[in-house]
Amino acid sequence: RGGHMPDIAALETGIKKGDRAMLGRAITLVESRRSDHLAQAQELLSRLLPFTGKARRVGITGVPGVGKSTFIDAFGSNLTKLGKRVAVLAVDPSSGRSGGSILGDKTRMERLAVDEQAFIRPSPSAGVLGGVGRATRETMLLCEAAGYDVILVETVGAGQSEYMVADMVDVFLVLMLPGAGDELQGIKKGILEIADILAVNKADQDAGKARRAARDYASALHIMTAGDAAWKLPVLTVSGLQNQGLDALWETMEKHRHVMVEAGLFDQRRQDQRVKWMWAMVEDRLLTRFRNHEKVCRILPGLESDVRNDCKTATQAAEDLLSAFGMGDLE
Ligand code: GDP
Repeated sequence: RGGHMPDIAALETGIKKGDRAMLGRAITLVESRRSDHLAQAQELLSRLLPFTGKARRVGITGVPGVGKSTFIDAFGSNLTKLGKRVAVLAVDPSSGRSGGSILGDKTRMERLAVDEQAFIRPSPSAGVLGGVGRATRETMLLCEAAGYDVILVETVGAGQSEYMVADMVDVFLVLMLPGAGDELQGIKKGILEIADILAVNKADQDAGKARRAARDYASALHIMTAGDAAWKLPVLTVSGLQNQGLDALWETMEKHRHVMVEAGLFDQRRQDQRVKWMWAMVEDRLLTRFRNHEKVCRILPGLESDVRNDCKTATQAAEDLLSAFGMGDLE
């Protein structure tokens, strides 16, 4: 039993006071997959819910080496100098494996790591993306209740994790490298659909090249995006290393918020995110239960092989699996 876990009331008061140790323990509780911890975490979150939602929720993505940690260190430090409390979270489903770089690792953000006004939490290593996403989302709520004004959620721009992060933030920033020639090198079309701001990083190296890249991105985007959208994806140039363009970037984020609020889209986005999240969790849990079901497990390999070899229709195999699970239609 979780004997060393402080009681929920103590966590609640500690977090409301901004106690970092209590916040850390609450995050551990939220990251746990034990069912008794799950219930405790939900109890804690329900109590804290009225104190959440006030932070600026910012997602940040970009390929490894684009300069995310350097950028977050500088950008976050600028914000704490403005008197804001900043939390840095990470979504990295691969972080449990050895060898991979650890997102949200304190050694990657030297200034923020020692900043009293900042809180850095590495990605939970709970294997599946859904679990990592849940923990991060709920950690964000805990940080809000603890009084953090800006939540920066970092993720690598590969795979599905950037979509998950886009679904938990108000504004999604994609960091790019000054193009090695071609405008949209490396940008997946999908990422443009979830980006709210693009920033060409490392503009200190060759300002002209960075500006040209930004212009190329902007004109390519102009063709791709709808003309009547409330918000038109801006392309900025920045340097995390030299702290260039970061104030303008923050202003752009504030402007984005303003435009979204005015258009009535700000709350709508958060509402949609919550409902979408609820369904994602339902699907996740149902699928897990299905995959772990004893009878399903027993017949699954044979059915997969039958379907692979065209000995059985996919529909019939699905029906067999669902019957084994106790919800067949044809029985
Ligand atoms: P991440 O993998 O996206 O977190 O990237 P890092 O922040 O670790 O940076 C990768 C490399 O790029 C490091 O060697 C940094 O020193 C360098 N770097 C990061 N930001 C900048 C920048 O704005 N300008 C320049 N010239 N180099 C940078």
